[in-house]
Amino acid sequence: MAGARVVEEILQRDAQRFAITMFGAEPYGNYNRILLSNVLSGSQQMEEIFLNPLLWYSERNIALHAGVKATSIDRVRRLVIGKPMRPTSLPYGLDGCDQSATPIAESYDQVIIATGSRPFLPPMEGMDTPGVFQFRTVDDCGQIASYAKQCKKAIVIGGGLLGLEAARGLLTHRVEVTVLEAMPQLMTAQLDPESATLLKTTMERMGVQVLLEQIATHILGDERVTGLRFKDGSTLETDMVVVSAGIRPITEIAKDSGLTVEKGIVCDDQMRTSDPDIFAVGECVQHRGVLYGLVDPIWEQAATLADIITEKNPQAAYVGSKLATKLKVMGVQLASMGATKPAQPDDEVVLYREPSRGVYKKLIIRDDKLVGGILLGETDTAGVLTQMFTLETVLPERRADLLFGSSNGAPILSVFDLPDHAQICNCNGVSKGGIKEAILIGKCHSVSKVGAHTKAGMGCGSCKSLIMQLLEVYAGEVVEDPSEHYYVPGVPLTKPELIAAIKAQGLKSVSAVFRELAGGKEDPGSKVGLASLLKSLWPHEYEDERDARFINDRVHANIQRDGTFSVIPRIYGGVTSAAELKKIAEVAEKYQAKMVKLTGGQRIDLLGFKKADLPAVWKELGIPSGHAYTKAFRTCKSCVGTDFCRYGLGDSIALSQKIERRFQGIESPHKMKLATAGCPRNCSEAYVKDLGAVAIEGGQWEIYLGGAAGGSVRKGDLLCTVTSHDEVLRYMGRFMQYYRENGKYLERSYGFVERLGIEKLRDVLVHDTEGIGTRLDAEIEAAVAAYKDPWEEATKPVHENQFTNPLAVSVREEEVRA
Ligand SMILES: Cc1cc2nc3c(=O)[nH]c(=O)nc-3n(C[C@H](O)[C@H](O)[C@H](O)COP(=O)(O)OP(=O)(O)OC[C@H]3O[C@@H](n4cnc5c(N)ncnc54)[C@H](O)[C@@H]3O)c2cc1C
Ligand code: SF4
Repeated sequence: MAGARVVEEILQRDAQRFAITMFGAEPYGNYNRILLSNVLSGSQQMEEIFLNPLLWYSERNIALHAGVKATSIDRVRRLVIGKPMRPTSLPYGLDGCDQSATPIAESYDQVIIATGSRPFLPPMEGMDTPGVFQFRTVDDCGQIASYAKQCKKAIVIGGGLLGLEAARGLLTHRVEVTVLEAMPQLMTAQLDPESATLLKTTMERMGVQVLLEQIATHILGDERVTGLRFKDGSTLETDMVVVSAGIRPITEIAKDSGLTVEKGIVCDDQMRTSDPDIFAVGECVQHRGVLYGLVDPIWEQAATLADIITEKNPQAAYVGSKLATKLKVMGVQLASMGATKPAQPDDEVVLYREPSRGVYKKLIIRDDKLVGGILLGETDTAGVLTQMFTLETVLPERRADLLFGSSNGAPILSVFDLPDHAQICNCNGVSKGGIKEAILIGKCHSVSKVGAHTKAGMGCGSCKSLIMQLLEVYAGEVVEDPSEHYYVPGVPLTKPELIAAIKAQGLKSVSAVFRELAGGKEDPGSKVGLASLLKSLWPHEYEDERDARFINDRVHANIQRDGTFSVIPRIYGGVTSAAELKKIAEVAEKYQAKMVKLTGGQRIDLLGFKKADLPAVWKELGIPSGHAYTKAFRTCKSCVGTDFCRYGLGDSIALSQKIERRFQGIESPHKMKLATAGCPRNCSEAYVKDLGAVAIEGGQWEIYLGGAAGGSVRKGDLLCTVTSHDEVLRYMGRFMQYYRENGKYLERSYGFVERLGIEKLRDVLVHDTEGIGTRLDAEIEAAVAAYKDPWEEATKPVHENQFTNPLAVSVREEEVRA
């Protein structure tokens, strides 16, 4: 985070002066590491925490070597030398470079080291056993989440801030979690014993077990983790271990280059190392003997360093930071700053405790200024108190106001009185001055506009009340941002308004919508959502514009990380034949598929084809496809049903084939996966699909909506029970059309069903309380009739370069992830 921040600060001060080259051991642009806990707990998507995508670097002419580790600085020849990482190695590992790769050397005038920290691994045997994880990067997060799926029990080693966040994240993956802490209390650095005991109770109520004063010495298991052994010889079973026992600065490159390194890379107040042309920022730095493990100091260091490097303020100095932090655990409110107990005889302690509600508030005051605070259970005043603590503001006489807000409702701290450099958003390091500028110059009159302009409030969100106060002061009012309700950001209309306008004006293409409804201004980020909506509204007449599609939709195959494509032949209901399999095998061999893989949805994935080969692959397969990538109905999985199963109550295979043939290619707000099961034993997992049909006694079928078994797990809600395949098709079609009309773009069916509620859906779709049943049936019928196999483009490409110019495909990070 520090490296990219310094670059941002430098560009703000002088965008033209420097030719900037960056090395990053991780293969991404920078992301907000502090939000990883939210990604692990599922409250944020990975895409949401990226601060600058790879495009940001190239647009600013920054040469970014992503996935390349800087290994040495040749101070005589003034070169930084790096080597690409092996794909499977940890970016913070001691080595991890691909030794056979050619080194990359870049010349320099000045170097900034921002290598951060690596997790500290306590001395324990068996640390390399599969099932042991560290928690530092976006990839760690992904690996923990996917491994947790096969686990019942997890142990987190370390009861600090990160350990508790990891534990809460693991709970969402339905694992029994135990936190192990060597000290007698949780969060030793931030809490006193009493608040730590309350926090332990709160965590235990949430389902996290906490074991204090326990030191593990061995990780047990050979093939994979099976348990832990403690110092006293006792053991505890577990399926996985996450180590979060502290951090250590990454200093090898500085040490190997002959710079002064003690606990961290030693820097002066201008962030200069022992070499005047080499600077360092972030967690790798030791400044005035102190190492920092939070982002606040990083923002301050980055601003100082940018002033120095650009010579905008040669006197700038970083003098150290005061630390305040919050625990980002859903369901626990906790903020802590500075000292946890009085240190001088005259220190004043203001204390309020309400154990039954888990509330504990403590302030330590010295000379009328706040030197420490713990707020547990209620953190309403945390934002204001953090400001008072950092800025050393003189406190109001009535100390109770600091804990509960002022009795007359007036703000305890007027944001008006804060200096411009006061940091309002700690997650993204945004100052009051930055927000003021966004309001006064950028004309941002709502919290979300300020966020879009400055990133303030886009992290943990706890600074939003201060942003509102600033809006009241500088804009005169806080306006609710209507754009939060727009269907796509580039067209100022809600979904119902947009549909009405599109229909009324007969707009059939994305460019026509921009022309008529957005003043002619095209917004690239809105195109895909609009294309999907238009296709559902005008199944026959929609005017397809290729630039409104993702690469996957342009070539009807799935782009993979290495720029090749995967093809999934359509196998209706999961039932294939020897002849079909033979054909698939021949094509895989002839076009050198890098891998042939059975998918979780009963289909065969052929991975690693070149773009130019796609038309030939399709032609020779002769099986339709084009369904495995797009935001549309995809496949319907089935169990063996009455044909072969001893328990079968209904013909699930025939039903699933009918469903798949009928709804193939139907566009929807997000992908839809379906399944049918021949009885409630649910072998095909129909209860956890977007739409599922399960046969029950008496020749009946139950229809389930909004199930999920991916990042979220949810059993679908029962819509209705019917007696024939035809009725299943009717109600499934009705639901699809209703979802197409009312779902937000990229809203999965489970979010949609929860948002509207199953009762409302049952009323509309089954009891037809709004009288739209027949229309919905007709609309979906029209969409079904308009289906065209996209693979026909193999013989009739839409434009001459559609498949023939493989170099034209640039694998943008966003598209790979889409
Ligand atoms: C899960 C989690 C939650 C957190 N929550 C909070 C919070 O709520 N509040 C808070 O204030 N802080 C929090 N932190 C801490 C915060 O993220 C760090 O303080 C911050 O990221 C440090 O920034 P940095 O740039 O120094 O290091 P990093 O963000 O780690 O960046 C260093 C980068 O350098 C790369 N690198 C290392 N060596 C080399 C090399 N030789 N060549 C090229 N690249 C190299 C690394 O791979 C890494 O990508 C959290 C951290 C984690 C892991
Ligand atoms: S769901 Fe029922 S019918 Fe289908 S395979 Fe399983 S047990 Fe058999």
